[in-house]
Amino acid sequence: MKAIAITLAVFGALGASLVYAQGNQSAAGALHILPVQGNVYMLVGAGANITVQAGDDGILLVDAGTAAMSDKVLAAIHSITDHPLIYIVNTDEAEDHTGGNPKIAATGKPAPFNNLTSLGRAGAEGAFIIASQGTFERMSAPTGKTAATPVEAWPNDTFSTPQKKLYFNGEPILIMQQAANTDGNSIVLFRKSDVVSAGDILDLTEYPIIDLKAGGSIEAEVEALNRLIDLTVPKSHAEGGTMVIPGHGRLCDQGDVVAYQEMVTIIRDRLKDMIKRGMTLEQVKAAKPTEDWDPLYGKTTGRWTTDMFVEAAYKSLSLKGDKN
Ligand SMILES: [Zn+2]
Repeated sequence: MKAIAITLAVFGALGASLVYAQGNQSAAGALHILPVQGNVYMLVGAGANITVQAGDDGILLVDAGTAAMSDKVLAAIHSITDHPLIYIVNTDEAEDHTGGNPKIAATGKPAPFNNLTSLGRAGAEGAFIIASQGTFERMSAPTGKTAATPVEAWPNDTFSTPQKKLYFNGEPILIMQQAANTDGNSIVLFRKSDVVSAGDILDLTEYPIIDLKAGGSIEAEVEALNRLIDLTVPKSHAEGGTMVIPGHGRLCDQGDVVAYQEMVTIIRDRLKDMIKRGMTLEQVKAAKPTEDWDPLYGKTTGRWTTDMFVEAAYKSLSLKGDKN
């Protein structure tokens, strides 16, 4: 709750954030189901946040959590509905988003209705796993340090167009490709429920994980956050309106996205200025370009420290237009 209290102080958010914050706090191993609005639920505690859209057509998940949490995820999903799992959409390839793919997809079944996406899957078993072509390529043909993923985890319904459309559980769903912290994240918009699943474009628990090997950059991250702002509509004079499920952390609305976008934009501008003045990476780190936000997002240990973020952001800016 500490970080949220600071958010309230810094950005002047209203008390309603505390209601949304309940999804952020989960004891180790325990999952929390948070009804968001419309057909959409948020499942917290299985790695990345999982979006559950459920109705008479079945279940669609956005991200699948870690492999270790799959049994608990399945139990939680089926406490919402007994209908079958039809789709998993992966917003990026990280293990805490896709690790649950094999076990969870195996319990599902292909869409019973005929649509273009099912043509290549005649006779296939299990749920569809949808992801951008770039995400698929990194999972199936990893380079550098990216871990290999088992074939059962691979997306089997990929798209390379700017967006893929579904109509499921009585609502249009747009799956939009957006370069951000990788070169092919997906944003999922539930148009009737008025909920957006942002994946790691929005990560309330840390600075954005800019994955240089996967083609991510801080410039693309700013553009992606701008797109989230474009897609969301605030409720007038109150919190609410379009709700945004982040990759990690509590449920958000547009005001939260704006605060995060401002943070990333200001840090980007500081870094650009420092690069223009010829500062080295070490000098930039010493100048603490993130200092104002370190109480909220900064980390000195763990998988994504402040130093790692500054380094990735610096490199993504200084390598721009310079192919080395
Ligand atoms: Zn993540």
